[in-house]
Amino acid sequence: MTEVFTGSFTQQEPIPEEGISAALAVLRSGRLHRYNLAEGEAGDVALLEQEFAQLMGAKYCLAVASGGYALACALRAVGVVAGDRVLTNAFTLAPVPGAIASLGAVPVFVGVTQELTIDLEDLAAKADQADVLLLSHMRGHLADMDALMALCDARGLRVIEDCAHTMGARWRGRPSGTDGLVGCFSTQTYKHINSGEGGLLVTDDAEIAARATVLSGSYMLFERHLAAPSAESFAQIKYETPNVSGRMDHLRAAILRPQLRRLQEQCANWNARYQTVEAGLRGTPGLTLVNRPEAESYVGSSIQFLLLDWPDETIVALLARCAARGVELKWFGAAEPIGFTSRYDSWHYAPSAPMPKSDRVLKSIVDMRLPLTFSLQDCALIARIIKAEVSAVG
Ligand SMILES: *Cc1c(COP(=O)(O)O)cnc(C)c1O
Repeated sequence: MTEVFTGSFTQQEPIPEEGISAALAVLRSGRLHRYNLAEGEAGDVALLEQEFAQLMGAKYCLAVASGGYALACALRAVGVVAGDRVLTNAFTLAPVPGAIASLGAVPVFVGVTQELTIDLEDLAAKADQADVLLLSHMRGHLADMDALMALCDARGLRVIEDCAHTMGARWRGRPSGTDGLVGCFSTQTYKHINSGEGGLLVTDDAEIAARATVLSGSYMLFERHLAAPSAESFAQIKYETPNVSGRMDHLRAAILRPQLRRLQEQCANWNARYQTVEAGLRGTPGLTLVNRPEAESYVGSSIQFLLLDWPDETIVALLARCAARGVELKWFGAAEPIGFTSRYDSWHYAPSAPMPKSDRVLKSIVDMRLPLTFSLQDCALIARIIKAEVSAVG
């Protein structure tokens, strides 16, 4: 009998009851705007910022409208202006080069390794072209952050981290997003905590935090923040920094705070699913699993494997066969992006010379989301289906 999977790859868990009650309380108050506070009230947004800063061990935190907004805001806050070149990953998602382009700056793509992390050799070769690296921990894969930071420090590169897929992850115990000058997170539905849309930014730099706060649209009300620098940091910045509104509201923050409290437990749930699929796929001829370094504590909210040197039509055939059995795989390497883009050559507004070694890896990447609505039995079944179909077409 041929096994078929009948679950949904896009169905999330419900918002915890505690979050629903908190959201209803915000709705009943009518005070949705972050600066609309009753006497003595801190507000869910300021509290979320305080709680996230604490969790990350960061001095400052700012909640914003989206992950993409956090990236662009961080770039502006560190001083990137139109015409500047900004280094970034060749393997990432569209909002990352998009954030650079939104400032009129120019993305310069750095290659990818078989571990799906930024190629440090290529980074060293291109380090002279820019003074900011927008580092994307795409699909939760952390580069060797010790080597990367040493390289960037030596070459005068300031690092902004895109942690859309690494909220809750660590490198040698250090929370992802705290090695660089700024860490940016997304709370969009498909990330690790879910408010539909939303973003968070952390930094230990008072000047950057003050600029980001004014940029986000603080209407000179920055003293109502609980995880912002003191008023002195704003003295000049408040006159010099434009308002590019992108605030978070209390409704979203209210939904997020209870989710943040159980983040660690959820990360363990993701990893149990990841490891079940990984174990089921191990030893499949023609299929290469991605090595995870010892120093990396990852969050397995999605899994990738490589079909190195497979002809395009065989990959297409495999995806169709898996889809027919209910397993939705995404071919990140497809030449024509469908519903998502993750290859540097899809972004024609940022031309780049071909990178043959990276292209071989990029062309081979297959991706699968692991929603927490999957049981471990589901994960084992999915792995059996993929393994059988790879063997059938291979
Ligand atoms: C989702 C995502 C973002 C941006 O998040 P939004 O909240 O959707 O703007 C940035 N980088 C990566 C790698 C992402 O997957």
